[in-house]
Amino acid sequence: EAKSRGPNHHMAFEASMQDKVAKRATLESKLRVAIQNKAIRPFYQPLIDLKSGKVCGFEALARWTDEEGAAIPPPVFIGIAEETGMITELFEDLLAQACRDALAWDDHVTLSFNVSPVQMEDKLLASRIFKVLSANGLPPPRLEIEITENALIQDPAVAAIILDELHDAGVQIALDDFGTGYSSLAQLARYRFDKIKIDKSFIATYRDDERQEKIIRAMLGLGRSLNIQTTAEGIEEHRQLGHLLQLGCDVGQGYLFGKAMPAEETRSFLDRDEALASG
Ligand code: C2E
Ligand code: MG
Ligand code: MG
Ligand code: MG
Repeated sequence: EAKSRGPNHHMAFEASMQDKVAKRATLESKLRVAIQNKAIRPFYQPLIDLKSGKVCGFEALARWTDEEGAAIPPPVFIGIAEETGMITELFEDLLAQACRDALAWDDHVTLSFNVSPVQMEDKLLASRIFKVLSANGLPPPRLEIEITENALIQDPAVAAIILDELHDAGVQIALDDFGTGYSSLAQLARYRFDKIKIDKSFIATYRDDERQEKIIRAMLGLGRSLNIQTTAEGIEEHRQLGHLLQLGCDVGQGYLFGKAMPAEETRSFLDRDEALASG
């Protein structure tokens, strides 16, 4: 690095900064148009009840393919939507679509939906969600919202009010990416979650590492003793699944079961699941 820094380094840096700023501005206006045109769609990744092996829910994951056919990663466009305030409109559009899609599933199959940390500062969030649910006919108990640990840090008092309002109506609350935030345990003490989702980084790096297994075991034990359901994200191999089953994890999610798919494919995924379960 340091060796390549000639006298032109500063100018090269400026040029690359300008390039970044320009690219970001282009992406932002493309995103605005995409939201207007409803070109961002929810896809659905199955959540599997590990004891029965059956689908118990789908997580909605936003997908955007731009005009040139390039897939823009969710963390990129969600990040821009958060910074620019477009997230509320995007969220409401995606949730409305997801509610309609979820009506095609069996009653016990829940819809999991991610809520951004910035949305947890919006005092109207719970009522916005109720409005979308009732406009689209999805009963609140069929919805589960996923928030990350960071979502509770910005304004814990407002966040607690929002979560209580949702909870009282029967919406389930999951703590996403558990174990990667600054204060995972503090968040568990602070709020009564229905579910914790162990971050996929713990599952991915888990091989025959004894320490890693102990950490996963401890997280699952924590869930059990607090009476909170546990989900493991990022299950890709049968071996990981076998261990998680043995350790008593409740729900699994990962490429082993299926990637996020368009709404049209969820019904046949459920039918195949039923057929497998009934032998
Ligand atoms: P997340 O909520 O933790 O979602 C799980 C991510 O892990 C998804 O990435 C999913 O495709 C990926 N994943 C699932 N199984 C596996 C696996 O077996 N292996 C690997 N390597 N990855 C797996 P995706 O769809 O790229 O989304 C990334 C993040 O973007 C999400 O993380 C969530 O934080 C955010 N996001 C996506 N859609 C939305 C949305 O509609 N609203 C908000 N606020 N955030 C969203
Ligand atoms: Mg999630
Ligand atoms: Mg996650
Ligand atoms: Mg994540």
